[in-house]
Amino acid sequence: MKTFQARPPHSPFTLGSLGVPRIALGVLLVSACADVDDDAHDLDEQTQEIIDNLLAADIPESQIEVDDDGRVVMGGDLIVGLQASRELAGIDGSSSQGFRQYGFTGATIDPAIDEICVGGSALGGTLSNALDAAIVNFNDENLRFVMTRFAGSPPGSCDAIITAGTYYADTQVVGYSCAPSYGMPCSFLQLNLKYANQGLDYLEHLITHELGHAVGLHHSDVYAPVCPVAAGSGASHIPGTPTTGQPYGSIMNSCLWASTTGEWTSSDVAALQVLLGDHFDAAEQFSDQNPNGVWSYGYANVGGEFTASPTYTQNGSIVVRGGGPNSDGWRGLHHNVSTEALGYSGGLVMEPHALVMHPGNSVDALAVLRFTAPRTACYDVDVTWTNIDQQATNTWVWIYTNAASQEGTVYPFTPPGFKEILTHGLQGHGASTTFSETMALTSGEVLSFEVGNGGDGYFNDSVRIELTVTETSC
Ligand SMILES: [Zn+2]
Repeated sequence: MKTFQARPPHSPFTLGSLGVPRIALGVLLVSACADVDDDAHDLDEQTQEIIDNLLAADIPESQIEVDDDGRVVMGGDLIVGLQASRELAGIDGSSSQGFRQYGFTGATIDPAIDEICVGGSALGGTLSNALDAAIVNFNDENLRFVMTRFAGSPPGSCDAIITAGTYYADTQVVGYSCAPSYGMPCSFLQLNLKYANQGLDYLEHLITHELGHAVGLHHSDVYAPVCPVAAGSGASHIPGTPTTGQPYGSIMNSCLWASTTGEWTSSDVAALQVLLGDHFDAAEQFSDQNPNGVWSYGYANVGGEFTASPTYTQNGSIVVRGGGPNSDGWRGLHHNVSTEALGYSGGLVMEPHALVMHPGNSVDALAVLRFTAPRTACYDVDVTWTNIDQQATNTWVWIYTNAASQEGTVYPFTPPGFKEILTHGLQGHGASTTFSETMALTSGEVLSFEVGNGGDGYFNDSVRIELTVTETSC
């Protein structure tokens, strides 16, 4: 193996401070058949261009290597072909996506891809079960595509095909895949049979990771690697994901560990929302992260700036993203995480998975839920607020936005930089209002959903919010 740049002077496969032996997902030592468009005739020239493109895309030199077959490998297990490197560098077919941590600026898959078919007929036993589990991991996250497994010939409905294969090599390499190009996922992932007896969760983690690369996910620890094989930055931050390497913090970390559960972490989910999601449900996606992908949770005073809620607490089946000044202990977002309805004295009932906004006691103490557009697109915005307390009196709800496409009104007490597109008072139990509109939003523009107490204090002011935002064609 020739190395593009010397490795950092530490052991490549363990991180001593953790005291847990771990295995890097790959220093690519294995020459399996790959469909990288190698042309032996001009390989050196092409290889050099790929490397130059990666450097132009701010990928750190320490993450770039060339294997014995002349393939350029990033972060240990991610092959980058010529076209993918051009997209990463913004030379050809680049997208407007501004995120690089977890994802790339280019080398993304086409949003029109609805079904990715995964062939795994070469996998047996636990590996086969792990592929099924990995596919479930993707399909559980409301992504803009579904993954389906096929045996034999792929069905005609497939927009793209990924084939999982195996090889055996007595190395530390566990598997590898490649970056998307021309809007298509990488067509393969390869799994080292040396690790086939590691157990279902481990293999589920491995396959989920490599499928992640195939659909355009980068390593999540490019900021501060938890594994020596990934280093440096070259990344932009996705809200809700760590800015420092967190051991065990992500399926997309550049190394994998024996105790993994094989499941996405909450920061993985936030990244998937932003990079590959097209349907956003505020209640379903509520999490302990703040901001959390497209969502952020907080409070504001009337006319004031948004403040992110600092605290996240769980009390039985209720989690509260709250916090705020003074006596505003109720102010925040309350989520019933159970599958049971929860009843309270006085007649408040929180349905399973309901998300409730609760204002503070001061008339201008608002609870705020924000959606930030992950990319420039059109979105169907559907929100319904309902007073759910049996003894409810008055509450007040608003939608503010800084979206250029939206007509709105600016009042003296409209938040700075925003305009009001909905204001509505809810009087009494069951009172409800709905807003439904298709909006053209530019990446980073914000919709702010706010609830106040209506001027009569904050007793009995639980307001359920049912809010979905779905990417659509303009
Ligand atoms: Zn990887």
